[in-house]
Amino acid sequence: MGSRAVVVGGGIGGLAAAIGLDRIGWEVTVVERAAVLQDAGAGISLAANGMRALDELGVGQALRDASRGQYTGGTRTPRGRWLTRMDGAALEEAVGTPIVGIPRSTLHRLLRDSLPAASLVVGFEAASVRQTGQGTVRVGCGETVLEADLVVAADGIRSTVRGHLFPDHPGPVHSGSTVLRAITEHAVDLHTDFELTWGRGAEFGHITFLDGRAEWHAALDLPAGTWFADPLAELRRRFRTWHDPIPALLDATLPEAVLHHDVHELRMPLPSFTAGRIALLGDAAHAMTPNLGQGACQALEDAVTLAAALRSESTVEAALVRYDAERRPRSQAVARAARQAGRMGRQLSHPLAVGLRNTAMRLTPSRIATRMILRHHAWTPPSLR
Ligand SMILES: Cc1cc2nc3c(=O)[nH]c(=O)nc-3n(C[C@H](O)[C@H](O)[C@H](O)COP(=O)(O)OP(=O)(O)OC[C@H]3O[C@@H](n4cnc5c(N)ncnc54)[C@H](O)[C@@H]3O)c2cc1C
Repeated sequence: MGSRAVVVGGGIGGLAAAIGLDRIGWEVTVVERAAVLQDAGAGISLAANGMRALDELGVGQALRDASRGQYTGGTRTPRGRWLTRMDGAALEEAVGTPIVGIPRSTLHRLLRDSLPAASLVVGFEAASVRQTGQGTVRVGCGETVLEADLVVAADGIRSTVRGHLFPDHPGPVHSGSTVLRAITEHAVDLHTDFELTWGRGAEFGHITFLDGRAEWHAALDLPAGTWFADPLAELRRRFRTWHDPIPALLDATLPEAVLHHDVHELRMPLPSFTAGRIALLGDAAHAMTPNLGQGACQALEDAVTLAAALRSESTVEAALVRYDAERRPRSQAVARAARQAGRMGRQLSHPLAVGLRNTAMRLTPSRIATRMILRHHAWTPPSLR
Protein backbone atom coordinates (compact mmCIF):
# COMPACT_ATOMS: atom_id res chain seq x y z
CA MET A 1 0.00 0.00 0.00
CA GLY A 2 1.06 3.63 -0.49
CA SER A 3 2.11 5.68 2.48
CA ARG A 4 1.34 9.36 1.92
CA ALA A 5 -1.40 10.90 4.05
CA VAL A 6 -3.04 14.28 4.24
CA VAL A 7 -4.65 15.12 7.57
CA VAL A 8 -7.27 17.87 7.35
CA GLY A 9 -7.32 19.88 10.59
CA GLY A 10 -4.55 20.66 13.06
CA GLY A 11 -6.52 20.29 16.30
CA ILE A 12 -5.83 17.65 18.96
CA GLY A 13 -7.25 14.85 16.78
CA GLY A 14 -5.44 15.84 13.59
CA LEU A 15 -2.08 16.36 15.27
CA ALA A 16 -2.37 13.05 17.14
CA ALA A 17 -3.32 11.23 13.93
CA ALA A 18 -0.32 12.74 12.18
CA ILE A 19 2.02 11.66 15.00
CA GLY A 20 0.64 8.12 14.80
CA LEU A 21 1.12 7.97 11.02
CA ASP A 22 4.61 9.44 11.31
CA ARG A 23 5.50 6.79 13.88
CA ILE A 24 4.52 3.96 11.53
CA GLY A 25 6.63 5.46 8.75
CA TRP A 26 4.05 7.35 6.69
CA GLU A 27 4.76 10.69 5.06
CA VAL A 28 2.20 13.11 6.53
CA THR A 29 1.01 16.61 5.73
CA VAL A 30 -1.39 18.31 8.13
CA VAL A 31 -3.38 21.13 6.54
CA GLU A 32 -4.91 23.67 8.93
CA ARG A 33 -7.18 26.47 7.77
CA ALA A 34 -6.12 28.93 10.48
CA ALA A 35 -3.36 31.14 9.15
CA VAL A 36 -1.96 31.73 12.62
CA LEU A 37 -1.98 29.05 15.29
CA GLN A 38 -3.40 30.98 18.22
CA ASP A 39 -3.69 28.03 20.58
CA ALA A 40 -6.56 29.84 22.22
CA GLY A 41 -8.71 27.94 24.61
CA ALA A 42 -8.91 27.24 28.24
CA GLY A 43 -7.85 23.98 29.81
CA ILE A 44 -8.54 20.32 29.30
CA SER A 45 -8.59 17.22 31.44
CA LEU A 46 -7.29 13.96 30.06
CA ALA A 47 -8.35 10.63 31.48
CA ALA A 48 -6.36 7.40 31.47
CA ASN A 49 -7.54 6.35 28.00
CA GLY A 50 -6.30 9.65 26.52
CA MET A 51 -3.02 9.40 28.44
CA ARG A 52 -2.41 5.84 27.33
CA ALA A 53 -3.02 6.86 23.73
CA LEU A 54 -0.50 9.67 24.21
CA ASP A 55 1.98 7.18 25.68
CA GLU A 56 1.67 5.08 22.53
CA LEU A 57 2.26 8.21 20.46
CA GLY A 58 5.42 8.93 22.48
CA VAL A 59 4.05 12.16 24.01
CA GLY A 60 2.80 10.79 27.36
CA GLN A 61 5.82 11.59 29.52
CA ALA A 62 6.19 15.17 28.28
CA LEU A 63 2.51 15.64 28.96
CA ARG A 64 2.73 14.20 32.48
CA ASP A 65 5.64 16.53 33.23
CA ALA A 66 3.58 19.54 32.15
CA SER A 67 0.25 18.63 33.76
CA ARG A 68 -1.21 18.18 37.22
CA GLY A 69 -2.83 15.00 38.49
CA GLN A 70 -6.42 15.56 39.62
CA TYR A 71 -6.48 13.54 42.85
CA THR A 72 -8.92 15.27 45.15
CA GLY A 73 -12.39 16.59 44.48
CA GLY A 74 -15.84 15.50 43.45
CA THR A 75 -19.37 16.70 42.91
CA ARG A 76 -21.19 19.19 45.15
CA THR A 77 -24.46 21.04 45.54
CA PRO A 78 -24.50 24.87 45.25
CA ARG A 79 -24.42 25.10 49.07
CA GLY A 80 -21.26 23.06 49.09
CA ARG A 81 -22.57 19.69 50.24
CA TRP A 82 -20.60 16.81 48.75
CA LEU A 83 -22.57 14.37 46.59
CA THR A 84 -19.58 12.23 45.62
CA ARG A 85 -15.89 12.44 46.26
CA MET A 86 -13.73 11.02 43.57
CA ASP A 87 -10.63 9.16 44.59
CA GLY A 88 -7.86 10.02 42.12
CA ALA A 89 -5.42 7.69 43.84
CA ALA A 90 -7.82 4.73 43.39
CA LEU A 91 -8.20 5.62 39.72
CA GLU A 92 -4.43 5.81 39.35
CA GLU A 93 -4.06 2.43 41.01
CA ALA A 94 -6.65 0.89 38.68
CA VAL A 95 -5.46 2.37 35.37
CA GLY A 96 -1.92 3.59 36.01
CA THR A 97 -2.60 7.32 35.82
CA PRO A 98 -4.87 9.88 37.46
CA ILE A 99 -6.90 12.27 35.34
CA VAL A 100 -4.60 15.20 34.50
CA GLY A 101 -5.32 18.88 33.89
CA ILE A 102 -3.34 20.97 31.40
CA PRO A 103 -3.79 24.24 29.47
CA ARG A 104 -4.87 23.47 25.89
CA SER A 105 -2.06 25.67 24.57
CA THR A 106 0.52 23.41 26.26
CA LEU A 107 -1.11 20.23 24.91
CA HIS A 108 -1.17 21.65 21.36
CA ARG A 109 2.46 22.73 21.61
CA LEU A 110 3.59 19.30 22.83
CA LEU A 111 1.72 17.59 20.00
CA ARG A 112 3.14 19.96 17.37
CA ASP A 113 6.66 19.52 18.76
CA SER A 114 6.33 15.77 18.12
CA LEU A 115 5.95 16.31 14.37
CA PRO A 116 8.50 17.38 11.78
CA ALA A 117 7.94 21.16 11.43
CA ALA A 118 7.51 20.93 7.65
CA SER A 119 4.56 18.57 7.98
CA LEU A 120 2.18 21.33 9.21
CA VAL A 121 0.80 23.67 6.55
CA VAL A 122 -1.27 26.59 7.88
CA GLY A 123 -3.69 28.80 5.96
CA PHE A 124 -4.88 25.81 3.88
CA GLU A 125 -8.65 25.34 4.02
CA ALA A 126 -9.62 22.04 2.41
CA ALA A 127 -12.64 22.83 0.27
CA SER A 128 -12.89 19.65 -1.77
CA VAL A 129 -11.98 16.01 -1.23
CA ARG A 130 -12.23 13.63 -4.18
CA GLN A 131 -11.28 9.96 -4.57
CA THR A 132 -9.58 9.27 -7.91
CA GLY A 133 -9.92 6.10 -9.93
CA GLN A 134 -6.24 5.31 -9.22
CA GLY A 135 -6.66 4.61 -5.51
CA THR A 136 -5.66 8.06 -4.30
CA VAL A 137 -7.53 11.03 -2.82
CA ARG A 138 -7.19 14.67 -3.85
CA VAL A 139 -7.64 17.49 -1.36
CA GLY A 140 -8.15 20.91 -2.90
CA CYS A 141 -7.73 24.43 -1.61
CA GLY A 142 -8.15 27.00 -4.36
CA GLU A 143 -5.54 26.26 -7.04
CA THR A 144 -3.57 23.91 -4.78
CA VAL A 145 -4.32 20.20 -4.88
CA LEU A 146 -2.63 17.62 -2.65
CA GLU A 147 -2.77 13.95 -3.61
CA ALA A 148 -2.50 11.19 -1.01
CA ASP A 149 -3.08 7.49 -0.42
CA LEU A 150 -5.18 8.33 2.63
CA VAL A 151 -7.02 11.41 3.87
CA VAL A 152 -7.79 11.76 7.56
CA ALA A 153 -10.59 14.25 8.13
CA ALA A 154 -10.00 15.75 11.57
CA ASP A 155 -11.70 19.02 10.68
CA GLY A 156 -13.86 19.27 13.75
CA ILE A 157 -17.56 19.33 14.54
CA ARG A 158 -18.47 21.33 11.40
CA SER A 159 -16.39 19.03 9.19
CA THR A 160 -16.43 19.93 5.50
CA VAL A 161 -15.29 16.43 4.60
CA ARG A 162 -18.12 14.81 6.57
CA GLY A 163 -20.53 17.03 4.63
CA HIS A 164 -19.10 15.69 1.34
CA LEU A 165 -19.27 12.04 2.48
CA PHE A 166 -22.66 12.16 4.19
CA PRO A 167 -24.65 14.97 2.56
CA ASP A 168 -27.92 13.73 4.12
CA HIS A 169 -26.61 13.72 7.67
CA PRO A 170 -28.20 16.59 9.65
CA GLY A 171 -24.86 17.64 11.20
CA PRO A 172 -24.38 19.11 14.65
CA VAL A 173 -27.28 20.21 16.84
CA HIS A 174 -27.35 22.49 19.86
CA SER A 175 -27.09 20.50 23.09
CA GLY A 176 -29.23 22.96 25.02
CA SER A 177 -26.38 24.59 26.86
CA THR A 178 -23.75 27.27 26.58
CA VAL A 179 -20.36 27.24 28.29
CA LEU A 180 -18.30 30.13 29.61
CA ARG A 181 -14.79 29.34 30.77
CA ALA A 182 -11.41 30.84 31.52
CA ILE A 183 -8.04 30.25 33.08
CA THR A 184 -7.43 32.34 36.20
CA GLU A 185 -4.90 35.13 35.93
CA HIS A 186 -2.82 33.81 38.83
CA ALA A 187 -2.54 30.83 41.16
CA VAL A 188 -5.55 30.35 43.43
CA ASP A 189 -5.49 28.78 46.88
CA LEU A 190 -7.78 25.76 46.39
CA HIS A 191 -8.49 22.82 48.69
CA THR A 192 -9.18 20.38 45.86
CA ASP A 193 -7.77 19.61 42.42
CA PHE A 194 -11.13 19.56 40.71
CA GLU A 195 -14.80 20.09 41.49
CA LEU A 196 -18.13 20.03 39.75
CA THR A 197 -21.18 21.70 41.28
CA TRP A 198 -24.67 21.06 39.99
CA GLY A 199 -27.51 23.52 40.44
CA ARG A 200 -30.77 23.63 38.52
CA GLY A 201 -29.91 24.42 34.90
CA ALA A 202 -26.40 25.49 35.81
CA GLU A 203 -23.07 23.85 36.58
CA PHE A 204 -19.76 25.26 37.74
CA GLY A 205 -16.50 23.32 37.74
CA HIS A 206 -12.76 23.75 38.01
CA ILE A 207 -9.58 21.81 37.32
CA THR A 208 -6.10 22.82 38.41
CA PHE A 209 -2.79 23.15 36.57
CA LEU A 210 0.80 22.50 37.54
CA ASP A 211 1.52 26.20 38.15
CA GLY A 212 -1.39 26.61 40.60
CA ARG A 213 -3.70 28.40 38.19
CA ALA A 214 -7.10 26.85 37.55
CA GLU A 215 -9.49 26.55 34.66
CA TRP A 216 -13.12 27.05 35.57
CA HIS A 217 -16.22 26.55 33.47
CA ALA A 218 -19.82 27.57 33.91
CA ALA A 219 -22.38 25.64 31.88
CA LEU A 220 -25.83 27.18 31.58
CA ASP A 221 -28.92 25.68 30.02
CA LEU A 222 -29.84 28.48 27.64
CA PRO A 223 -30.96 28.77 24.02
CA ALA A 224 -28.29 28.88 21.33
CA GLY A 225 -27.08 32.39 20.58
CA THR A 226 -27.52 33.78 24.11
CA TRP A 227 -24.78 36.35 24.71
CA PHE A 228 -23.90 38.64 27.60
CA ALA A 229 -22.54 42.18 27.37
CA ASP A 230 -20.29 41.50 30.37
CA PRO A 231 -19.96 37.72 30.80
CA LEU A 232 -17.88 37.86 33.98
CA ALA A 233 -20.35 40.23 35.69
CA GLU A 234 -23.21 37.97 34.61
CA LEU A 235 -21.50 34.92 36.13
CA ARG A 236 -20.76 36.79 39.35
CA ARG A 237 -24.45 37.58 39.55
CA ARG A 238 -25.63 34.04 38.78
CA PHE A 239 -23.15 32.27 41.06
CA ARG A 240 -22.85 34.79 43.93
CA THR A 241 -24.58 32.50 46.43
CA TRP A 242 -22.71 29.35 45.41
CA HIS A 243 -20.10 27.83 47.70
CA ASP A 244 -16.40 28.69 47.90
CA PRO A 245 -14.18 28.72 45.89
CA ILE A 246 -16.54 29.69 43.05
CA PRO A 247 -16.62 33.46 43.77
CA ALA A 248 -12.83 33.38 44.36
CA LEU A 249 -12.21 31.73 40.98
CA LEU A 250 -14.31 34.39 39.23
CA ASP A 251 -12.47 37.13 41.16
CA ALA A 252 -9.12 35.72 39.98
CA THR A 253 -10.15 36.05 36.31
CA LEU A 254 -9.67 38.90 33.84
CA PRO A 255 -12.86 39.82 31.92
CA GLU A 256 -11.07 39.45 28.56
CA ALA A 257 -10.00 35.87 29.43
CA VAL A 258 -13.58 34.55 29.39
CA LEU A 259 -14.48 32.37 26.39
CA HIS A 260 -18.12 31.75 25.54
CA HIS A 261 -19.37 28.97 23.23
CA ASP A 262 -22.66 27.23 22.64
CA VAL A 263 -22.24 23.47 22.96
CA HIS A 264 -23.19 21.37 19.96
CA GLU A 265 -23.01 17.64 19.38
CA LEU A 266 -23.49 15.13 16.55
CA ARG A 267 -26.68 13.68 17.96
CA MET A 268 -27.40 11.39 15.02
CA PRO A 269 -24.59 8.80 14.93
CA LEU A 270 -22.80 8.42 11.60
CA PRO A 271 -23.36 5.13 9.72
CA SER A 272 -19.61 4.87 9.06
CA PHE A 273 -16.39 6.68 9.96
CA THR A 274 -14.82 5.86 6.59
CA ALA A 275 -15.44 5.95 2.86
CA GLY A 276 -12.92 4.51 0.42
CA ARG A 277 -9.60 5.97 1.49
CA ILE A 278 -10.98 8.69 3.72
CA ALA A 279 -11.28 8.35 7.51
CA LEU A 280 -13.19 10.70 9.80
CA LEU A 281 -11.59 11.23 13.19
CA GLY A 282 -12.24 13.16 16.41
CA ASP A 283 -15.11 15.64 16.53
CA ALA A 284 -15.62 15.28 12.77
CA ALA A 285 -16.71 11.70 13.49
CA HIS A 286 -18.30 11.83 16.95
CA ALA A 287 -18.55 15.31 18.49
CA MET A 288 -20.06 14.79 21.93
CA THR A 289 -21.13 16.96 24.85
CA PRO A 290 -18.33 17.67 27.33
CA ASN A 291 -20.11 16.11 30.32
CA LEU A 292 -17.66 13.19 30.62
CA GLY A 293 -14.55 15.09 29.46
CA GLN A 294 -14.04 12.46 26.78
CA GLY A 295 -14.14 14.24 23.37
CA ALA A 296 -10.40 14.73 23.01
CA CYS A 297 -9.66 11.40 24.72
CA GLN A 298 -11.76 9.64 22.09
CA ALA A 299 -9.94 11.54 19.33
CA LEU A 300 -6.63 10.31 20.79
CA GLU A 301 -7.96 6.75 20.82
CA ASP A 302 -8.99 7.19 17.17
CA ALA A 303 -5.49 8.35 16.24
CA VAL A 304 -3.70 5.36 17.73
CA THR A 305 -6.25 2.84 16.46
CA LEU A 306 -6.00 4.20 12.92
CA ALA A 307 -2.21 4.04 12.86
CA ALA A 308 -2.21 0.52 14.34
CA ALA A 309 -4.71 -0.70 11.74
CA LEU A 310 -2.64 0.77 8.88
CA ARG A 311 0.46 -0.82 10.32
CA SER A 312 -0.99 -4.31 10.46
CA GLU A 313 -3.38 -4.54 7.49
CA SER A 314 -2.13 -5.03 3.94
CA THR A 315 -4.34 -2.41 2.26
CA VAL A 316 -5.62 1.03 3.24
CA GLU A 317 -9.18 -0.14 2.61
CA ALA A 318 -8.81 -3.12 4.96
CA ALA A 319 -7.23 -0.90 7.61
CA LEU A 320 -10.16 1.54 7.39
CA VAL A 321 -12.72 -1.26 7.72
CA ARG A 322 -10.94 -2.28 10.89
CA TYR A 323 -10.68 1.32 12.15
CA ASP A 324 -14.42 1.79 11.67
CA ALA A 325 -15.26 -1.49 13.41
CA GLU A 326 -13.02 -0.73 16.38
CA ARG A 327 -13.81 2.94 16.85
CA ARG A 328 -17.43 3.58 15.89
CA PRO A 329 -19.23 1.45 18.51
CA ARG A 330 -17.04 2.62 21.38
CA SER A 331 -16.95 6.33 20.57
CA GLN A 332 -20.69 6.44 19.86
CA ALA A 333 -21.40 4.66 23.17
CA VAL A 334 -19.26 7.22 25.00
CA ALA A 335 -21.14 10.03 23.22
CA ARG A 336 -24.46 8.55 24.38
CA ALA A 337 -23.15 8.24 27.92
CA ALA A 338 -21.96 11.87 27.86
CA ARG A 339 -25.42 13.06 26.80
CA GLN A 340 -26.99 10.94 29.55
CA ALA A 341 -24.55 12.34 32.12
CA GLY A 342 -25.69 15.84 31.13
CA ARG A 343 -29.32 14.89 31.65
CA MET A 344 -28.60 13.49 35.10
CA GLY A 345 -26.46 16.50 36.03
CA ARG A 346 -27.44 20.14 35.80
CA GLN A 347 -30.14 19.49 33.18
CA LEU A 348 -32.21 17.77 35.85
CA SER A 349 -34.55 20.51 37.02
CA HIS A 350 -37.54 18.98 38.82
CA PRO A 351 -36.90 19.35 42.59
CA LEU A 352 -38.02 15.78 43.29
CA ALA A 353 -35.76 14.35 40.62
CA VAL A 354 -32.86 16.47 41.88
CA GLY A 355 -33.47 15.25 45.42
CA LEU A 356 -33.60 11.60 44.35
CA ARG A 357 -30.45 11.94 42.27
CA ASN A 358 -28.58 13.66 45.09
CA THR A 359 -29.59 11.01 47.59
CA ALA A 360 -28.60 8.21 45.21
CA MET A 361 -25.24 9.85 44.62
CA ARG A 362 -24.55 10.34 48.32
CA LEU A 363 -25.36 6.69 48.99
CA THR A 364 -23.18 5.32 46.18
CA PRO A 365 -19.94 3.98 47.69
CA SER A 366 -16.85 5.61 46.15
CA ARG A 367 -15.56 2.26 44.86
CA ILE A 368 -18.75 1.90 42.79
CA ALA A 369 -18.40 5.49 41.53
CA THR A 370 -14.79 4.67 40.56
CA ARG A 371 -15.93 1.53 38.73
CA MET A 372 -18.46 3.58 36.74
CA ILE A 373 -15.75 6.03 35.68
CA LEU A 374 -13.44 3.18 34.71
CA ARG A 375 -15.99 1.95 32.17
CA HIS A 376 -14.78 4.74 29.90
CA HIS A 377 -11.24 5.31 31.14
CA ALA A 378 -9.99 1.71 31.08
CA TRP A 379 -8.78 1.32 27.51
CA THR A 380 -5.67 -0.41 26.26
CA PRO A 381 -4.14 1.07 23.11
CA PRO A 382 -3.05 -1.17 20.26
CA SER A 383 0.71 -1.22 19.81
CA LEU A 384 2.41 0.97 17.20
CA ARG A 385 5.75 -0.83 17.61
C1 LIG B 1 -16.50 23.22 26.87
C2 LIG B 1 -15.75 21.99 26.41
C3 LIG B 1 -14.93 21.32 27.31
C4 LIG B 1 -14.27 20.16 26.90
N1 LIG B 1 -13.46 19.51 27.79
C5 LIG B 1 -12.87 18.36 27.43
C6 LIG B 1 -12.05 17.66 28.35
O1 LIG B 1 -11.84 18.09 29.49
N2 LIG B 1 -11.47 16.47 27.95
C7 LIG B 1 -11.67 15.98 26.69
O2 LIG B 1 -11.15 14.90 26.38
N3 LIG B 1 -12.43 16.65 25.78
C8 LIG B 1 -13.01 17.82 26.12
N4 LIG B 1 -13.75 18.51 25.20
C9 LIG B 1 -13.86 18.02 23.82
C10 LIG B 1 -12.63 18.38 23.01
O3 LIG B 1 -12.35 19.77 23.13
C11 LIG B 1 -12.84 18.04 21.54
O4 LIG B 1 -13.40 16.76 21.43
C12 LIG B 1 -11.52 18.05 20.79
O5 LIG B 1 -10.87 19.28 20.93
C13 LIG B 1 -11.78 17.74 19.31
O6 LIG B 1 -10.57 17.81 18.61
P1 LIG B 1 -10.57 17.72 17.03
O7 LIG B 1 -9.13 17.82 16.63
O8 LIG B 1 -11.35 16.53 16.59
O9 LIG B 1 -11.39 18.98 16.52
P2 LIG B 1 -11.04 20.53 16.62
O10 LIG B 1 -10.34 20.85 17.90
O11 LIG B 1 -12.30 21.26 16.33
O12 LIG B 1 -10.00 20.77 15.46
C14 LIG B 1 -10.38 20.85 14.12
C15 LIG B 1 -9.34 21.66 13.37
O13 LIG B 1 -9.63 21.59 11.98
C16 LIG B 1 -9.48 22.87 11.41
N5 LIG B 1 -10.33 22.87 10.21
C17 LIG B 1 -11.67 22.85 10.14
N6 LIG B 1 -12.08 22.79 8.87
C18 LIG B 1 -10.96 22.77 8.11
C19 LIG B 1 -10.74 22.69 6.70
N7 LIG B 1 -11.76 22.63 5.83
N8 LIG B 1 -9.46 22.67 6.25
C20 LIG B 1 -8.42 22.74 7.12
N9 LIG B 1 -8.57 22.82 8.47
C21 LIG B 1 -9.84 22.82 8.95
C22 LIG B 1 -9.94 23.82 12.51
O14 LIG B 1 -9.44 25.13 12.32
C23 LIG B 1 -9.35 23.14 13.75
O15 LIG B 1 -8.04 23.57 14.01
C24 LIG B 1 -14.43 19.68 25.58
C25 LIG B 1 -15.25 20.36 24.68
C26 LIG B 1 -15.91 21.51 25.09
C27 LIG B 1 -16.80 22.22 24.10
